[in-house]
Amino acid sequence: MAKSAEVEHPNKAFGWAATDTSGLLSSFNFSRRATGEKDVTFKVLYCGICHSDLHMVKNEWGMSTYPIIPGHEIVGVVTEVGSGVQKFKVGDKVGVGCMVGACHSCDNCTNHLENYCPKMILTYGAKYYDGTTTYGGYSDTMVSDEHFVIRIPDNLPLDAGAPLLCAGITVYSPLRFYGLDKPGMHVGVVGLGGLGHVAVKFAKAMGVKVTVISTSPNKKKEALEHLGADSFLVSKDQDQMQAAQGTLDGIIDTVSAQHPLMPLLGLLKTQGKLVMVGAPEKPLELPVFPLLMGRKLVGGSGIGGMKETQEMIDFAAKHNITSDIEVIPIDYVNTAMERLVKADVRYRFVIDIGNTLKSSS
Ligand code: NAP
Ligand code: ZN
Ligand code: ZN
Repeated sequence: MAKSAEVEHPNKAFGWAATDTSGLLSSFNFSRRATGEKDVTFKVLYCGICHSDLHMVKNEWGMSTYPIIPGHEIVGVVTEVGSGVQKFKVGDKVGVGCMVGACHSCDNCTNHLENYCPKMILTYGAKYYDGTTTYGGYSDTMVSDEHFVIRIPDNLPLDAGAPLLCAGITVYSPLRFYGLDKPGMHVGVVGLGGLGHVAVKFAKAMGVKVTVISTSPNKKKEALEHLGADSFLVSKDQDQMQAAQGTLDGIIDTVSAQHPLMPLLGLLKTQGKLVMVGAPEKPLELPVFPLLMGRKLVGGSGIGGMKETQEMIDFAAKHNITSDIEVIPIDYVNTAMERLVKADVRYRFVIDIGNTLKSSS
């Protein structure tokens, strides 16, 4: 019989887990594997709260198995490295994002697209190579094969840098891949949340003109004055949406819930691209006529490979791109999840694991 999470590995660990579809998190004792030859073990200092954590703890995608320790925007300081580790040493500032394993031999892996490897292993809620469950960053320690560890540049703050490990790469990769990174282009960002606000910052740093398309008129001032967006459309305002028809080369859609695509397709120029990165629990309706009438494309994108993730972090450090965050103690996490449902955060919650996660035992 499989051993319990508390004793299956030699190293004691402590975190907060959800144990059923209520998604409520509470303290949880478990264990981490000993540092293997290629492994990096680190003390977790901060972990961002991604909307995917919320989808997962509530089993909105129908793939959750409990208990789940969420968290895939994990940063900290290395405490131990295996004898075969080449890139990291004790004391280094590091991070782990959404994945901790892949096959390393398929076409995707060979092309630095581990994120699309059929055997990719998610950072939490998945089965590791040895059959044990993976646990995420709402916990005191983390261990990962060095291939999936990112170096955090010295000038990038750990707390505001953490969300880049998921939110950052998820928007950076499609801007690059779909060619929406050319200076002078005009890109729309739908949903000004965790992903959306860093999409604005990356696109601006690439020299792109940015229009935010939002359901929240009260985010307008900040989007224009603080995040650097060039214009702001309230998606429910038909006059505004009408006036902006046919103006965008591409759109990054980060919305986490059901929403109509018709108005967004209307904003695209001929041959414009609508890129879906948000992951609503139910399928969206895809109107075909606007695609035919302008040779438009609808695509998708999921995080990014490890090479590109490091490139994104280095780009962020160079251009002073960080996430706008609200740092919270671990015991605020359930309230934070409730607020995230209501899009009530500017713009990412980050848990101060290092100072507030204390084992009760
Ligand atoms: P978030 O912080 O909650 O932001 C989502 C934003 O979408 C909200 O701030 C809100 O912006 C807008 N929104 C929410 N409900 C809406 C509705 N019913 N209609 C229209 N707009 C709505 O979430 P996030 O962490 O950025 O994640 C966004 C989505 O991306 C989630 O589904 C998440 O699971 C997914 N995700 C995908 C990947 C990937 O690899 N593709 C990676 C990470 C996350 P406004 O107030 O501006 O309207
Ligand atoms: Zn995420
Ligand atoms: Zn592979």
